[in-house]
Amino acid sequence: MNLNSPLFDRIRVKQEEQPRAEENGPRCDHPGCDRPAGHRAPAGRMREGQFFSFCLDHVREYNQSYNYFKDMSDEDVARYQKEAVIGHRPTWTMGAKRGKPGQPGFGAEGAGFADPFSVFRNGRRRPGARPQTSRVSIAARKALAVLGLDESADAQTVRARYKELVKRLHPDANGGDRSQEEKLREIIHAYKQLRSAKLA
Ligand SMILES: [Zn+2]
Repeated sequence: MNLNSPLFDRIRVKQEEQPRAEENGPRCDHPGCDRPAGHRAPAGRMREGQFFSFCLDHVREYNQSYNYFKDMSDEDVARYQKEAVIGHRPTWTMGAKRGKPGQPGFGAEGAGFADPFSVFRNGRRRPGARPQTSRVSIAARKALAVLGLDESADAQTVRARYKELVKRLHPDANGGDRSQEEKLREIIHAYKQLRSAKLA
């Protein structure tokens, strides 16, 4: 055996390239995210004791949305979840063996990912979801309230109301009267929020 063979150098290099332990750990449960998951988040009511594992960014995003359900009754949450279960997408069982990206068992982005509260859908309404079921974040609801709307308002209604209010409050539109400027700023800010939440 020739121990000076370049083959051994190659083997050594390959070993040094082995991923570190952290990179071998569990991956973030957020669809499409491949970062190491070091943060647990409760999977939700009726799923006590079950947890998602997320990276730092996604656990923050999840927790923000999760807190939003605090003011929903158990009944509302249960109905929400039931709609998700009887909905259109397959759900995987928490803790069930599943594939990782690039391996068999891991579908297209988000496929098979149980998202009973639609927390990763930016408030977009799912076909079949009841309009009166909370579908938007607290921030979005506040923004809608600034426009004098509630969460049943669709994007078209939001845009129409925004135009109407800007027209009514803009100094150019009412003889240079600047008294409503603060209100107008508030409305513009609220509308921008709703745009980025895809609700307008
Ligand atoms: Zn992530």
